[in-house]
Amino acid sequence: PYDKLILCTGGRARRLAVPGADQVPLHTLRTIEDAQALAPALRPGRSVVVVGGGWIGLEVAATARQQGAEVVVVETQSRLCERSVPAEVSAYLLALHRAQGVRVLLGAGVRGFARVADGADGADLRSEVLLADGSALACDTIVLGVGLVPNDELAREAGLACEGGVLVDAQCRTSDPHILAAGDVAVAPNPWAGRSLRLESWQNAQEQGMAAARSALGQAVDYQPLPWFWSDQYGMNLQIYGMPTPAHRVVQRGDPASGSFVLFYLAGDVVQAAVGANAARDLRFARRLIEQRKPVDAERLADLNTPMAKL
Ligand code: ADP
Repeated sequence: PYDKLILCTGGRARRLAVPGADQVPLHTLRTIEDAQALAPALRPGRSVVVVGGGWIGLEVAATARQQGAEVVVVETQSRLCERSVPAEVSAYLLALHRAQGVRVLLGAGVRGFARVADGADGADLRSEVLLADGSALACDTIVLGVGLVPNDELAREAGLACEGGVLVDAQCRTSDPHILAAGDVAVAPNPWAGRSLRLESWQNAQEQGMAAARSALGQAVDYQPLPWFWSDQYGMNLQIYGMPTPAHRVVQRGDPASGSFVLFYLAGDVVQAAVGANAARDLRFARRLIEQRKPVDAERLADLNTPMAKL
């Protein structure tokens, strides 16, 4: 029996249902155990194929390169992190990884995997990633970073409304008001994004979890966070506030060639989202601009001589 029930069942790494997937060792990355299992494979002379050019894929690629491994990233879309960043940020990430010696294959589908004998005596076994164009990538290690599957089976069996996760409102309530959900499994309306979505970050898991607890206790809750994501790759820190879309006007502050820059995404004169590399301080101000919805002067925004605090 319960008065209130909170579902925090999280998610799991998506796998690929293609021929040979059960014949080769496939790493995914979600838990500390996954990381410990992968670490020994990332070393000089070893080759790693990363399937998926999203956040997990790119962070694994960066770490593998830094450990001296050869890395190929295979991505089905025509650009990196297509789900979460605009084209200019994808281009920046592509240049970053290529400059570090990663081979990035875009628009490349995986049609299967194979286990092949290697060397004259055939004793060494290697893995192969078979691509849709008929080519094959031989390697020592394969890592899948192809997204997250929400663990919403229990909720679906219980008859709760689900759409790519458990639907909740800003009070973290599911379609049954006595059942709440939070974290990777929860799909919530987000006014900053203009749609409902799952926010896959530990920060959201923590804060939405606390919001769900307060809501279950009958306290006033209005959980509609400004989306915030970040990623560390080769010592480069990328942060994203809000949801940039192609409809926004882009204003650039700083130069990617200098290593530090922020791209602001405006609707009219109001900053709605920001993406920056190695610009944590400017991004804190950017967050404030977004939350205050205060009109800004785009020319001053782009001018590095105008401190963000003065905008
Ligand atoms: P994750 O958290 O696993 O990084 P993302 O959604 O950020 O999740 O990235 C997953 C990436 O994997 C996306 O860029 C998606 O296009 C890519 N992807 C999905 N399926 C395949 C596939 N079969 N082969 C290659 N890339 C894939």
